[in-house]
Amino acid sequence: MSDTDLRNAIIATCRAMNASGLNTGTSGNVSARTDTGFLVTPSGIPYDDLSPDQIVAMDLDGAYEGDWLPSSEWRMHLDIYRARPEAGAIVHVHSSHAASLSCLRLDIPPFHYMIAVAGGATLRCADYATFGTAELSHNMIKALEERSACLLANHGQIAFGATLSKALWLAGEVEELCHQYFLATQMAAATDKPVVILDDAEMTRVMKKFRTYGKQPKDLAPGEHAAFETPVKKA
Ligand code: 13P
Ligand code: ZN
Repeated sequence: MSDTDLRNAIIATCRAMNASGLNTGTSGNVSARTDTGFLVTPSGIPYDDLSPDQIVAMDLDGAYEGDWLPSSEWRMHLDIYRARPEAGAIVHVHSSHAASLSCLRLDIPPFHYMIAVAGGATLRCADYATFGTAELSHNMIKALEERSACLLANHGQIAFGATLSKALWLAGEVEELCHQYFLATQMAAATDKPVVILDDAEMTRVMKKFRTYGKQPKDLAPGEHAAFETPVKKA
């Protein structure tokens, strides 16, 4: 993708995350990896007003180019690109259920098998630190160990993926899981029944299946099989 196309794709991602209700106002930020570092949204500019020249280019030493200040969370983006070679794009949002649950400062347990979508048996919540600080980024990197998304205490969530659309999709999944966990715990309280948590053996099975979930035959490595029992293929 050309530099301009990537800048436009970042703006489209920001607008999509607000239009879908995943984020509001100038909260959140979006970035994508480039050959020399990454492109990131500028700080505090409404997404509807953004033009491609306002997207900020940064290198992996944390230096930026141009007249626009990068997102106050540039360090979270930088640290993910440094620590996680598989990260091609990052979406940070203050989605309602993720942000609300993050105020409980809990790791979300495997109440639903889809918790594994972020890479592990729990969706971790990073320890609290003030927004835009190196401490927040440090806490986030720890919570992201073997994960591609986490909650940020009293703040929101962050998700990364190979592409902008995959990072946005994962942020949507995290928000949905937080909404479901909220509903399940409310229903549990109303009915005096526990939320049943999936055990380690089941989550190990689920995570194994997730390694090939979404892959069609053309995407599978030699010897790799689809995640589920496949029906007989007609000759
Ligand atoms: P920026 O506008 O600086 O990206 O800040 C938004 C935000 O979500 C801070 O955590
Ligand atoms: Zn934020």
